Amino acid sequence: MSSLLVDNIGELVTNGAGEGPLGIRRNAAVLVEEGLVVWVGPSAYAPAADRRLDAGGAAVLPGFVDSHAHLVFAGDRAAEFAARMAGQPYTGGGIRTTVGATRAATDNELRATVRRLRGEALRQGTTTMEIKSGYGLTVADEARSLRIAAESSTETTFLGAHVVPAEYADRPDDYVSLVCGPMLAAATPYAKWVDVFCERGAFDVDHARAILACGQAAGLGVRIHANQLGPGAGVRLGVELDAASVDHCTHLSDADVDALAGTAHGDGSGTRTVATLLPGAEFSTRSPYPDARRLLDAGVTVALATDCNPGSSYTSSMSFCVALAVREMRMTPAEAVWAATAGGARALRRDDIGVLTPGARADLVVLDAPSYLHLAYRPGVPLIRQVMRNGVTP
Ligand SMILES: [Zn+2]
Repeated sequence: MSSLLVDNIGELVTNGAGEGPLGIRRNAAVLVEEGLVVWVGPSAYAPAADRRLDAGGAAVLPGFVDSHAHLVFAGDRAAEFAARMAGQPYTGGGIRTTVGATRAATDNELRATVRRLRGEALRQGTTTMEIKSGYGLTVADEARSLRIAAESSTETTFLGAHVVPAEYADRPDDYVSLVCGPMLAAATPYAKWVDVFCERGAFDVDHARAILACGQAAGLGVRIHANQLGPGAGVRLGVELDAASVDHCTHLSDADVDALAGTAHGDGSGTRTVATLLPGAEFSTRSPYPDARRLLDAGVTVALATDCNPGSSYTSSMSFCVALAVREMRMTPAEAVWAATAGGARALRRDDIGVLTPGARADLVVLDAPSYLHLAYRPGVPLIRQVMRNGVTP
């Protein structure tokens, strides 16, 4: 059994016991065995190990957990972005453009895109990344999207209900039946979660309830795209179905916030349903950002994720999302870093990632900076010096 000691850590973010909300330890060390954290403590008292990684006084934090990404696609929508920046509004309609390109792509083309983006995110410190289907929208294309996603992540999500494809435009009920029937059956072997884009122009709340309930009955966990483009009942539907996460949450009523707050565990550890905020989408569609403070002040657990997709948020950078959350959404740097690590883990109902405490997976990043504060303080700068996943450098 080979052990590794990461020592001389100037500032260790544990998200467990320690100073402040991030459980910070100074002059710390982490001992890793068989891919797991087995000891955390002062560097001066660290046990011996087979190998040593000197952090050189830098900050170390848990690897980012990006709980919302759409990586299985083909094509490019840079021109749509440019048009939006020139004043055209975002409607979600461009998803169909990507559906056409994705259906026309080969398995290997899709696989190459997933691997490229997953690798890009990993180099930027993302050690866990959820991957959704949703650009195939046929039984065969959704199944192959998930099969390819599952090669790069265990956190895979069936999003056959992304939009109603053009060939079903005048008979959405038939499409919902397809999603709940053969498409779900073909997707289930490769999926852990089911998701619906519940929004005007996509799926209404009744269709969303039907699809999520079918997925739940097939053993999948529930997540939902809700309240992104306008107010609606999506967030409350997520709470009703015990969703792990309701994602976007840009347009919330008091009833929505109350519903989320009502899922509190009761021991001060936050809410069972997480609000996942995706500021890359607001940035890239020039839309108002979600009100993170209102959620945090109500005691709702908040996660940050990239929403990486070719239309509305083509970034894989969690550091960028942290910087946006701090600058544009008034989260403190500590709240934003927690949301991008432990918050993402909660949104995936995982307790073995997003923390650096004994028993957790040894997924960590060494920053080229003395403090996590630099992730927001130095936006756009590549501060990830080293990434470790399962105790090894990928
Ligand atoms: Zn999304």
